[in-house]
Amino acid sequence: MDFNGIKALDKKYIANTYNRFDRLFTSGKGSELYDEKGKRYIDLSAGIAVNTFGTADPLWLEAVTKQLSSLSHISNLYYTEPQAILAKKLCERTQMKKVFFSNSGAEANECAIKAARKYSHDKYGEGRNTIITLKDSFHGRTITTLSATGQEVFHKDFYPFTEGFIYSDPEDIQGIRKLMEDHKACAVMMELIQGEGGVRVLSKDFVQEVASFAKEKDILVIVDEVQTGNGRTGELYSYMNYDIAPDIISTAKGLAGGLPFGATLFGEKTEAVLSSGSHGSTFGGNPVSAAGAISIIDRLTDTFLDEVVSKGEFIKKELASVPGVVAVTGMGLMLGIETVRPAKEIVERALEEGLVVITAKNKVRLLPPLNISMELLQEAIEILKGVIEV
Ligand SMILES: *Cc1c(COP(=O)(O)O)cnc(C)c1O
Repeated sequence: MDFNGIKALDKKYIANTYNRFDRLFTSGKGSELYDEKGKRYIDLSAGIAVNTFGTADPLWLEAVTKQLSSLSHISNLYYTEPQAILAKKLCERTQMKKVFFSNSGAEANECAIKAARKYSHDKYGEGRNTIITLKDSFHGRTITTLSATGQEVFHKDFYPFTEGFIYSDPEDIQGIRKLMEDHKACAVMMELIQGEGGVRVLSKDFVQEVASFAKEKDILVIVDEVQTGNGRTGELYSYMNYDIAPDIISTAKGLAGGLPFGATLFGEKTEAVLSSGSHGSTFGGNPVSAAGAISIIDRLTDTFLDEVVSKGEFIKKELASVPGVVAVTGMGLMLGIETVRPAKEIVERALEEGLVVITAKNKVRLLPPLNISMELLQEAIEILKGVIEV
């Protein structure tokens, strides 16, 4: 079917939730994508931080196809090897104690929220259940994770929401302390780099002060690593840049390198909170996704992560002096560029020039495959400079 035919079917039969860019991608290899006309693009988006090693990476492909052809699904009524091995690797690399597997970021956060509420209920009884999140956060699209999301634009049409979420200004340590005390909080939940909120990096001071105040009051610290996790910021998880020890970590996007997957990790305080029957998922921990995730986690070595850091620094340095760039924020290969031209216009122009980048609020957002070669990255940055320049 030609592109116009596909577009017509999409417009007629698919719910109108996505404002799609006018492109049809048909294949890819590593950090390059191809559209239906065979035009080549450099990919600095990785399917929104999902394709950790790009498209159709050979090692990842081998891991998932091997699992696909032996056991693609069995349900959580039984044991499977990929889940067990992955859980061990995740716990060992994070010092967390246990993990619950799901299929997406929203689900990983739902699980974190349920566990935080149950922790407090088990220990303190009713009435201590508020979760403090941050303004400009993004935690997902279900009613509860939207409720956790501190952005009114996502709320306006969907009331009533799950109760018990209060939003603090990021960086307002006095304010967030007061909210935690006044509202009988059981947890504070934050992205350390707000992704959808515009690639805003929280300061180390704020994060550490929140974590230590919360610890003092036995309020759980939940870090949403859905976007920042799995090597994206140059550490395995972004909290490792902040020297804190979260009680619960949620992750998804890049974890399985391109397959739907989510994970919620529990530390010492929370490892035993979820008990038999208190949570579950039919698809969660799918063996094919888990096999993909093992292959991803294994390749995120310290040496590899150092390269992620230096590629990020290279991009920042290259863009710093470009007229039209106001500021570059972010860490590792999760970067936001504030530009003089509107971000949307830059993304459209980049597509014309064979470069895939996305937006985050008013910024141009870069989330390249973590293994992008320096040659491709240099080529991409030259294109980007051209479309940003004023
Ligand atoms: C993308 C994202 C989510 C939601 O993940 P889905 O897989 O779309 O449900 C949650 N939190 C953060 C920080 C995200 O970036």
